[in-house]
Amino acid sequence: MKRWSAISVDLDSLPHYCRIQGLDENLLDARARRLVGEVAVPRFLELFETFSCPGTFFAIGEDLSEQSLVKSLRRAQAQGVEIASHSHAHDYALSRRTVDDIRSDLQQADKAIARAVGVKPKGFRAPGYTLSPALVEAVGSLGYAYDSSVFPAAPYYAAKAAVMGALTLLGRPSRAILDRPQVLAAPREPYRLGAGEPYVPGEGALWELPISVTPYARVPFIGTFALTMPWAWVSHSYRALAKEKLFNFELHAIDVLDVSDGVPEALARQQRDLHVKASEKLSRLKQLIRWMRQDSEMATLSSVTAQLTLW
Ligand SMILES: [Zn+2]
Repeated sequence: MKRWSAISVDLDSLPHYCRIQGLDENLLDARARRLVGEVAVPRFLELFETFSCPGTFFAIGEDLSEQSLVKSLRRAQAQGVEIASHSHAHDYALSRRTVDDIRSDLQQADKAIARAVGVKPKGFRAPGYTLSPALVEAVGSLGYAYDSSVFPAAPYYAAKAAVMGALTLLGRPSRAILDRPQVLAAPREPYRLGAGEPYVPGEGALWELPISVTPYARVPFIGTFALTMPWAWVSHSYRALAKEKLFNFELHAIDVLDVSDGVPEALARQQRDLHVKASEKLSRLKQLIRWMRQDSEMATLSSVTAQLTLW
């Protein structure tokens, strides 16, 4: 059986983290606002180049007003990296809006991305991983080939709820919204979305590529887990996922940053993985890519989608 691995990186800039953590965005200086485009994306590109490995970047339309990010994305595209959409405004409540409102946000993102790199994105990832029938309808109607938002992770779900509860108690309500518990029963492997419940397979043209979580325990195998948790647990979890048809490894741009890059301490206190050295996180990422190359064919999410009908 042919196996695939895909690395995707959500390029959320630091202001989005301030919003989700309930922090004032004014604590970010100009340098901190440019860290994703000037430091994180080049680190990923160097990594992809070293291993000749394909990747997918999910860009936020609004963030493309930052020219350093546009420049980095052009370089990425020239290197063969797929540029997909992570919405325009990164509104955590996007899934609760009407189909028309969602369409207009997504169209703005498409325009901003096309202006930056010359092509319309083929894939979409929802802010905060939350889908709804309206969101799926909007994504389907705009001609995307795939969505990669479903994140059926049990501990993450619990952790997110706990963090949001704590922030509310501190009087700093987070802007993130909780997904419905149905997501926990969603398939872990790619499936076609339909017109109804997005966490149940349907018969539409749009594919869903769920973000990888381990079998049974549904441990979320994403950047914060793989780059900062005890390595024995990470490698054990990787082995469980290496047997699957698609290992869909999701990271964030800030996964390759640390406080010494100029991330404000107030943000790092909330986002504790920023205290782990970027060099350590990158060396783990290198080891994981070596394994992925041995165990599977690495591809962008749009090329995985193109192969799905052949499975
Ligand atoms: Zn995001």
